[in-house]
Amino acid sequence: MKRHSDSVPEQPTIRPPSEWRSTLIRVTRGCNWNQCRFCGIYSHLGEPHYSPRTYDDIARDIQLLKERRPQSEELFLGDADPIHAGVDLICRVLDLLYQSFPAKKVTSYARVSTLKKIGEAGIDRLAKHGLTRIHLGLESGDAEVLRFQRKGQSPQMVTDVSTWLRAAAIEQSFYVLLGLGGVERWRQHMTGTAALINQLTPEFVRIRRLWLYEPDPVSGAPGCPLLTQVQDGSFTPQNAEGTVLELALLLDLLQPSPTFLTCDHSNNVVQVHGRLDTDLEEMRREVRAFLNLPETQRRLLYEEHRSRI
Ligand code: SF4
Repeated sequence: MKRHSDSVPEQPTIRPPSEWRSTLIRVTRGCNWNQCRFCGIYSHLGEPHYSPRTYDDIARDIQLLKERRPQSEELFLGDADPIHAGVDLICRVLDLLYQSFPAKKVTSYARVSTLKKIGEAGIDRLAKHGLTRIHLGLESGDAEVLRFQRKGQSPQMVTDVSTWLRAAAIEQSFYVLLGLGGVERWRQHMTGTAALINQLTPEFVRIRRLWLYEPDPVSGAPGCPLLTQVQDGSFTPQNAEGTVLELALLLDLLQPSPTFLTCDHSNNVVQVHGRLDTDLEEMRREVRAFLNLPETQRRLLYEEHRSRI
């Protein structure tokens, strides 16, 4: 993995699709947790170890980025959980960003457990220094699914953190992973997820499907850790139709709110987008219309979708 040089800023390994316009700032490398069974993505992409970067290294990158994109109004902090590097460091980075760019929006990935640790006071400080939105891996609102998948968070932790973020006026973007409960627990997965979204009304809910990627024999990159549970029979993956049924159930259980729900990743078979207070019925209709297509047609669409991703 490429490290800092005096002329090229380091870049985060992954960014949310919605941050495609943003200037990307790498604060930490990899994931400090790195235990979620469904993930393993940093190891797969060649960044298996976590390390924080120094303020001086980050500041040098910000200077390089300022020379390249001086008018940046939107900035994003990576990798998986930059706030783990400490509230003091993040506040210094935020101050420097606002001094260096005409910034209107600064967003970051964060783990719920890290936000829980820094507490309401830490979150408040981040807001006062200009952090405007946090991308959170909710994944599921079901405690058992979170435990099995080793997410290291509980629905109660999500509730506490979300309440503090709302009080600090930091926007929340929740990621939900269809298929994460497997065939065994998909109803509970969706029921718990809908309950949390209804209770917390985050600004955004972003839907993805579980991706069980294989090891890469050429690069030697490891496959998805959850394949072990698939092989030993403790987790049965949903098929494509199963994840569409999950989406249908989720939409049935969600209540009107200002939350914007979007399937903004190409791995979703059916992609709906809209606000839960104005577009929920339309989204439900779209998913039902898909499920009412003749079975042969749905199968063809699943095949076609698989060949595209
Ligand atoms: S899902 Fe997030 S917290 Fe879990 S291992 Fe992957 S990057 Fe780390």
